[in-house]
Amino acid sequence: MKPFDVYAQTEETARAYFIRLRFAKWGGMPACEDCNCTAVYTYKSRHIFKCKMCLRQFSPTSNTPWAYRKLSFRKLMTIVAAFSINAQAISTRELCRNLGVQYKTVFVWLHKIRNELAERAKGFILSGEIEIDGSEYGGFIRPKNVKKKRDDHRKMPFRSNSRALTVVAARERGGSVRTWVAKHESDARSFIRDAISPDAVLFADQGVWWSWLRARHQLFTINHKEAYYSPEACTNQAENYFRALRIMERIQRHISGQYLDLYAADAAWRIERNKWTDKGGWSDAVSAMSRCGRSELAGYFQGRKRSLSLCQRDGTTKAWRPPSRSERLEKRVVADGGGLDEIGSARKPPGRRTWFDGFDYFEAQQIAADPSCIPNGAGVYTLWLSDGAELLNLVGFKESSSLPLWRTEHGVQVYVGETYDLRSRVLDHLLSNADRSTPRRTIMALQHSFGTLPDLLVGADRALTEASLTAWLSQRAVVGVKRCGYVKAEETSILLHAASPLNLVRPNPCQFGKFLSALRAEFNTEIGNGWPKAEAGWRPSRR
Ligand SMILES: [Zn+2]
Repeated sequence: MKPFDVYAQTEETARAYFIRLRFAKWGGMPACEDCNCTAVYTYKSRHIFKCKMCLRQFSPTSNTPWAYRKLSFRKLMTIVAAFSINAQAISTRELCRNLGVQYKTVFVWLHKIRNELAERAKGFILSGEIEIDGSEYGGFIRPKNVKKKRDDHRKMPFRSNSRALTVVAARERGGSVRTWVAKHESDARSFIRDAISPDAVLFADQGVWWSWLRARHQLFTINHKEAYYSPEACTNQAENYFRALRIMERIQRHISGQYLDLYAADAAWRIERNKWTDKGGWSDAVSAMSRCGRSELAGYFQGRKRSLSLCQRDGTTKAWRPPSRSERLEKRVVADGGGLDEIGSARKPPGRRTWFDGFDYFEAQQIAADPSCIPNGAGVYTLWLSDGAELLNLVGFKESSSLPLWRTEHGVQVYVGETYDLRSRVLDHLLSNADRSTPRRTIMALQHSFGTLPDLLVGADRALTEASLTAWLSQRAVVGVKRCGYVKAEETSILLHAASPLNLVRPNPCQFGKFLSALRAEFNTEIGNGWPKAEAGWRPSRR
């Protein structure tokens, strides 16, 4: 009988087959484990046995990880068959659909099998030539939506975060694989030492922490920057194991850190087992499950969730669980200085808002003193000058009745912009340099042409000009910020209602804008292009 044939059989046949595999130690005959004898009574009315020596009653699943099953033997054996017959990985969802049972049922049974394989593998001692390596799992950081804000996650320090775990594997060439889960490769060293025989020869990459193993063993290292294989050393069989685990991660779509050690042991078993026949894997999985005692995952449905045993550097293990959602949110609130907006608290209903509603205003000096007063995130911002009306008169701006200036107690609004990162954009305008801010360059161009703006020096010395403009803005600038989505549409609606004289690119035609463009071109030819590269001014910090 092939493993999958069991599903076509009756429950009676499936049970008989289960008993043959379960009691394989006693030649497939039901036996009392206490007395180690096969002399048992059977009952006509019930599916249990009774030992003739100690008179203990037992079932095929008593006192094993199979105990208290509710699934039929037919379905149970099909789960084991599907588990053992797959070359790469078994998808829990697929199996539960095929069997017509709940997802969690299959999930727990598969994990029970994996757990037994993992427990059994803890007794393996590796010898001969052993390859050691580690690989990181989990801790994925979602890339930023906007391309210019993305970090290269292949590079430090963006590679992984505190949620990432490392699977360390020791693979005997042509033999078994042992696996451990740790925060860092080096934490598993003492576990590796305990799992290999003294005469073993080790191969590893050039991680400095491996040289610790030289005290007892011969260790050959390979520099992966130069080659993957050299006649002296390679860790390709260990890499091959990690490839199997990656495929498993892909088929499962996600591997929770809590069960990473089980998946690691599963992949180790699978990679070793692939040379066997179908039946070999089947009976091996059943025999691993047929030990005495209850499964570590028993009570899963009653709320007894398993935790991962994480290897520590001192040779002990620590129970580890991924942080819960509330713990994760708490951490982020602390990291953001208590800004509840940052964690996506409920958005206010839109209500009857108009284009000028919803702005918070900050003076330039206040922002310079504490940039964190500006919220971080997507939105629009407006730049105001307290004496903007007079200043604009000095440079020949004529207010039109169709597009009036936006005036409030903060002065006159001169510029509007949209961004995905309000804080750094506002700081660009107030504290940075003309390369990072259009209105800064425009104001410089105005002063260069007219020279009528008070207390503002514009000249060939770049540092002096930038400092002068920063001081000039700090005296009179006010910034209004509004966090919102659809930032481009918000910006456009403001441009359509308010004059925003310093916005050169705008949806409505504007004579003053063309005039300013000409002034800026002139300024760039005469001064701006001759300037040295801007000094690194204020740089936005990555959240
Ligand atoms: Zn007995």
